[in-house]
Amino acid sequence: MTEETFPLSQDTLLVHGGTVRSQHGETSEAIYMTSGFTYKSAESAEARFKGEEEGFVYSRYANPTVAMFEKRMALLEGAEGARATGSGMAAVAAALISQVKAGDHIVAARALFSSCRYIIEDLLPRFGVESTLVDGCDLDQWRAAMRPNTVLTFLESPTNPMLDVIDIEAVADITRKGGARLVVDNVFATPLVQRPLKLGASIVVYSATKHIDGQGRCLGGVILSDQETLDGALKDYLRHTGPAISPFNAWLLLKGLETLPLRTERHAATAAALADHLAGHAKVSNVRYPGRSDHPQHALAKKQMTNGGPMVAFDINGGKTAAFTFLNALQTIRISNNLGDAKSLITHPATTTHQRMEESERELLGITGSTVRISCGLESVGDLVADIDRALARV
Ligand SMILES: *Cc1c(COP(=O)(O)O)cnc(C)c1O
Repeated sequence: MTEETFPLSQDTLLVHGGTVRSQHGETSEAIYMTSGFTYKSAESAEARFKGEEEGFVYSRYANPTVAMFEKRMALLEGAEGARATGSGMAAVAAALISQVKAGDHIVAARALFSSCRYIIEDLLPRFGVESTLVDGCDLDQWRAAMRPNTVLTFLESPTNPMLDVIDIEAVADITRKGGARLVVDNVFATPLVQRPLKLGASIVVYSATKHIDGQGRCLGGVILSDQETLDGALKDYLRHTGPAISPFNAWLLLKGLETLPLRTERHAATAAALADHLAGHAKVSNVRYPGRSDHPQHALAKKQMTNGGPMVAFDINGGKTAAFTFLNALQTIRISNNLGDAKSLITHPATTTHQRMEESERELLGITGSTVRISCGLESVGDLVADIDRALARV
């Protein structure tokens, strides 16, 4: 097997980076669908277990196909390394749990993916890790929440579903001054649009289920960080708790990366066009798109993102009844809580992804019965606009 090095641009790295060919010289990366590995001799087995010989030991620890995906992700992100997991939540859980112990404190933005809030609000306190939730856009709240025992800060930006944009560089700065490390869930921005490690984050996590796969085929997650973090407590956590990804799913994600630049551009162009169209519609209000100049943090979005991203949120005038009439009348855009697919997907957060949340908490986030969120797909923009207009006419 040979591994080439590529002093090449990002688009090229996403096609070739990390590829390790077998003796057959296959063009497409091989799927090493194996749990274990054999050794030429007992001495070789001993050496590998001691870490004195390169090679794989067990697919819960590492696997050649998974390793190719991890390498390509690290090249994309400009990270020293990456570790793949079976889902985005496995990545978030590993990134947080492996870094804390009883008595530690976490500061997190309130607008988090709901399972992330479960980890911070319900799971970690059972093990003696406390947290403070803040309005991520209010830097004073971050500063005020930091304690001497704060070890991590955690945010996602743009947020789900209201697409607020949080100043990653500023939060990273507050975090560093407090002696802690910032973890960023970068799913809603996608990797080519926003580079949290360059902005000062210590760890970046993805649900690769979303735009990295990009075609709604499988679950997956990634954790990116410096080598010291990856080789520290995180390595033992991953080895011994086993949130490993299937080599087949890692292969799907590896192939997803090849087309990521093309899809990233198209998703954002469609999102921008839909946002502009919706903003001019009488039955729609409160259009939220970071790429539009009327977005509350547009200037910040321009600074830390290369485009407005793939998601749009807006209100259908007339509350839940009107929103449901609209969703039910859509034909091309499908109702789904998932996102990052080639298919455009729409959700009503108050009754799905954020249903578990107290009404007062939803109010704090700005989620009402009128709010809907679209994950823009790869269909023709004209067809999506026509679908939206047809459905709005029924409202
Ligand atoms: C989907 C998602 C997750 C969880 O990822 P899974 O792959 O579904 O486990 C975490 N954070 C954000 C922002 C997400 O959109």
